[in-house]
Amino acid sequence: MDDVEDALHQLRRRERQAAVLADLGHCALSVDDLQVLFDQAVAQVAEALGIRFCKVLKLLPGSRELLLVAGVGWKQGLVGQATVPAGLDSQAGYTLQSDRPVVVEDLRSEARFSGPLLLSEHGVVSGMSVIIGPQGHPWGVLGTHSNELKEFTGEDTYFIQAVANTLWDAIHRRQIEDSLREADRRKDEFLAVLAHELRNPLASISTALEVISLTDDPTANAESRAIARRQVDHLSRLVDDLLEVSRIGQGRLKLKKQRVQLREVIDSAVADNQHFIDRQHHSLSVTFPDESIFLDADPVRLSQVFGNLLNNAAKYTPEGGVIEIRIRPEQAGVSIVVRDNGIGIPTAYLGAIFEMFAGLNQPAEMTQKGLGIGLSLVRSLIEMHGGTVEARSEGPGKGSEFIVWLPAARRAEETDDAPNRDTREPASTVAKRVLVVEDNDDAATSLAKLLQVLGQETCVAHDGIEALKAASVFRPDIILLDIGLPKLNGYEVARCIREKPWGNKILLAAVTGWGQEHDRDRAREVGIDRHITKPLTLPVLKEVLAGLPAPGNV
Ligand code: ADP
Repeated sequence: MDDVEDALHQLRRRERQAAVLADLGHCALSVDDLQVLFDQAVAQVAEALGIRFCKVLKLLPGSRELLLVAGVGWKQGLVGQATVPAGLDSQAGYTLQSDRPVVVEDLRSEARFSGPLLLSEHGVVSGMSVIIGPQGHPWGVLGTHSNELKEFTGEDTYFIQAVANTLWDAIHRRQIEDSLREADRRKDEFLAVLAHELRNPLASISTALEVISLTDDPTANAESRAIARRQVDHLSRLVDDLLEVSRIGQGRLKLKKQRVQLREVIDSAVADNQHFIDRQHHSLSVTFPDESIFLDADPVRLSQVFGNLLNNAAKYTPEGGVIEIRIRPEQAGVSIVVRDNGIGIPTAYLGAIFEMFAGLNQPAEMTQKGLGIGLSLVRSLIEMHGGTVEARSEGPGKGSEFIVWLPAARRAEETDDAPNRDTREPASTVAKRVLVVEDNDDAATSLAKLLQVLGQETCVAHDGIEALKAASVFRPDIILLDIGLPKLNGYEVARCIREKPWGNKILLAAVTGWGQEHDRDRAREVGIDRHITKPLTLPVLKEVLAGLPAPGNV
């Protein structure tokens, strides 16, 4: 009879535990406030196990302590306040390091850890605890305790682990929702700052064009053209940085490493920024060691890195500042320091400065807000080269220093291959027949005009079908082909042209706003020779006219 009663008791207990799990699962799916779930969990777990104490402990930042975030049975005022150590001086700490539920038969004779104050103060004897969250990255601990000796069954441990898993599901979902909300907020802020950053150069270009249309004064016109040129360069750089960051984010950016002389990389970064530095009346000194320094690096990316650092130094330094670049050989590498005496960086912000969109989280006292893409790009590119970068500043008004360390290549004299320099010079361009395929009228007309100024014969088509007809009649040497076209897109046009008997000799250059790696792959597949991202600059156009291959692949 006793056995039957015992079996019935066990059954009722199991049934109660299953009901609690169903209840908590429902609550986890529906509540907005996790505290409601925690409070319900501790009350129901204690009741289902017929036990006095139950608690949810959350691991605090730094992982040294756990906070009692919910509980039943404990003295008043402790929930939300009391902490227990996260080391081997507590049952919870020991649980964090265990991969299964921890059962304590009698705390007074426990040898695996010492009883924390919280348990001894409450006269706890037996208990059971489990991790909330994944092993290795725990969120906290769920524990139950009693004042008298209590035996827990295997089923009890499954039950408490199942409750902890339900809590973790809800916590994790909340974490993901919070991070999505945060990402969404940052995206909105980013778009607002981006619009602002784009509007400035666009406004300057628009004013410059007004000046050109209103006056014939050659000086005013030359100045306006120079302004428009600079602002177009600035816009292009911004778009390049954005694309690069997205490529790195997707792990699609591949370095094209070669043996390069550091001096050439720095010279190119300086040349790109010389105009800006002069306009700000800064003085720039560059100190190289006597010996040549060679790196195994992607010269384009590296000069982008130093270009960004130099551009920032010029941008964040009031007019007439002093900028220095110092290159020092070090054991196994080289350090490059870019220093300015500009507005400096608040110490509290130094740690976050390389984060993506850091500009959006700048402290209020920093008035010169930017997008915060450049430095995140700098760090990613330097790390891809096996190097490090660090920012230093003694605070606002005290200037800034960026220290890059890069591993050196074998010394120059140990190598037999000379630095790989791009010696390509556009060959002289004899008149060619160029078909411009572009659906934007202004873009098509201005490009055709530029080609005529360069002495080329041109023809314009505004959609894919027109392009095919024009190509078969005009028989161009070169087609400058937009990709996003009405009727037939640029890829389809390219494929059709390559199928024609006369279509093989034509140099096909895609001129497009789509610059991702997969766009280039697609272009290559349909037989496009060159993939150029807009805007098409004069030097690149001259290269195409001269029939030069692209510097990289397509
Ligand atoms: P952006 O310049 O577009 O904001 P960056 O990622 O290049 O993007 O820089 C992030 C932030 O770091 C800047 O907004 C600026 O506040 C700060 N910063 C970068 N370089 C300097 C510098 N040389 N002096 C002072 N502040 C700097």
